[in-house]
Amino acid sequence: MTAETLDCVVVGGGISGLTAATLLGRNGVNVICIEANPSPGGSIVTWKKDNFLFELGPNTVLDNCPEIDGLLSAAGLLDKKINAMPCSGNRYIVKKGKLAALPRGPLSFLFGGTFSMGSKLRLLREPFIPPCPAEAEETVAAFTIRRLGKEFLDYAVAPFVSGVYAGDPYKLSLPHAVPKIAALEKRYGSLVKGAAAKRRGGAPQGSIISFSKGFEVLPETLGSLLGDSFLPSSRVTGISADAEHYSIRVRLRDGCDAFLRTRSAVMAIPAEEASAILSELPGNFPDGISSLPYAPVAVISLGFRKQDVRNPLKGFGFLAPEVENRFVLGCLFSSSLFPSRAPAGHVALTAFAGGAVHPERALMPEEKILDETLTDISTLLGVEGAPVISRVTTWEKAIPQYMLGHNSYKLSAKRFEEENHGIFISGNLLYGVSVGNCIQNATALAGRVMNFLKR
Ligand SMILES: Cc1cc2nc3c(=O)[nH]c(=O)nc-3n(C[C@H](O)[C@H](O)[C@H](O)COP(=O)(O)OP(=O)(O)OC[C@H]3O[C@@H](n4cnc5c(N)ncnc54)[C@H](O)[C@@H]3O)c2cc1C
Repeated sequence: MTAETLDCVVVGGGISGLTAATLLGRNGVNVICIEANPSPGGSIVTWKKDNFLFELGPNTVLDNCPEIDGLLSAAGLLDKKINAMPCSGNRYIVKKGKLAALPRGPLSFLFGGTFSMGSKLRLLREPFIPPCPAEAEETVAAFTIRRLGKEFLDYAVAPFVSGVYAGDPYKLSLPHAVPKIAALEKRYGSLVKGAAAKRRGGAPQGSIISFSKGFEVLPETLGSLLGDSFLPSSRVTGISADAEHYSIRVRLRDGCDAFLRTRSAVMAIPAEEASAILSELPGNFPDGISSLPYAPVAVISLGFRKQDVRNPLKGFGFLAPEVENRFVLGCLFSSSLFPSRAPAGHVALTAFAGGAVHPERALMPEEKILDETLTDISTLLGVEGAPVISRVTTWEKAIPQYMLGHNSYKLSAKRFEEENHGIFISGNLLYGVSVGNCIQNATALAGRVMNFLKR
């Protein structure tokens, strides 16, 4: 272990920490990234067995910001990324016990049968509904009901936030959980007008990407490019400060403690760990951040013989609205999303259960989760035989929930950084939970660290 003073220690080797460490290292910063697990990636985990390939964490990463391609380019992976297959544009929701196609555009919404005439008329009225006062913070549900009505909430927006946050729309904060939607109302006074303006302006929609060997290729590559600067199987247990430096206490793989001196440190770890590690430094942020709620999620990976599944699975997958009273939150048609996810003559599906509305479901015994999932999948997709492969993966703290009042976490993180120059708060705690958000935010944060080090 090095006795020199480092420029930066990045705590956590998920995609946020790896992004920050990679960009810092490429800019000549003397950086070490410390990760508790034996391998890099955090929530990004790919499982391969019997010629099936399943993602146990993120499956659908939207490539919609330049920072993602910037990172892929730094990793030498730009030409290895693959786009989701064209049929992934077809998305379904469960409605009245069956799969119904979600409209792909305004015309299919108006002329399709998935939404009622009442909702269609409601959409035409939307541009005339006044925006929310600037100082008010609404939940996702309150906003949607006010602008678009309850059917929209139940069958479009609630399943969407369940797909991204596994969240409860009656608790999630609109401006913090879905800032792009809040911004449309603020800027254009209406979602319909905003969406039309964006379409006219040719705003990029982004594409869903992965790698033929799974998304884990990204963290693995970043970890190996970091070389000796990536320290796996080592857990940071505390940070203290003297007048000029921070001292990072690390429990190494062999059980011994080591201390690293550094000018700066980036926290790219979940809230509870960050709270414990930062507690020796001045400021109240650690106490507050430990109350950031997380939703648990069970990921159910399933492989079937193709002949046992009546549904042709020509699409992205389906979401199950809460009002439909299903066990699963939704299910991805994994082998239709990307090629080579299942051996010949087979299909791969990935279902999700639990989330903020039914956390207890994610924490049930695995056999019960599997049974309940198979009951839903069998009726909705016409599955007849037993799966040839199955696995339940439980993430007890899968996704942080940006609920009403989330801004107080952002403000206290900012104050904490001001009180502790050289400490930076990263990860998915504050500014977006998607892999794209994490890469975008960690890229910006690497820039802030470099500015700090130049002083
Ligand atoms: C089941 C699931 C499905 C998801 N699906 C999608 C999706 O389809 N699309 C999408 O864009 N996003 C998805 N997400 C969200 C996205 O994957 C995460 O928000 C993102 O990967 C978080 O990255 P991170 O680096 O901020 O944190 P993490 O991935 O949580 O990484 C934090 C790392 O810190 C390490 N660590 C913790 N404590 C310490 C310590 N004391 N010392 C050293 N290391 C420590 C941990 O071991 C971990 O590796 C999903 C998440 C989950 C769980």
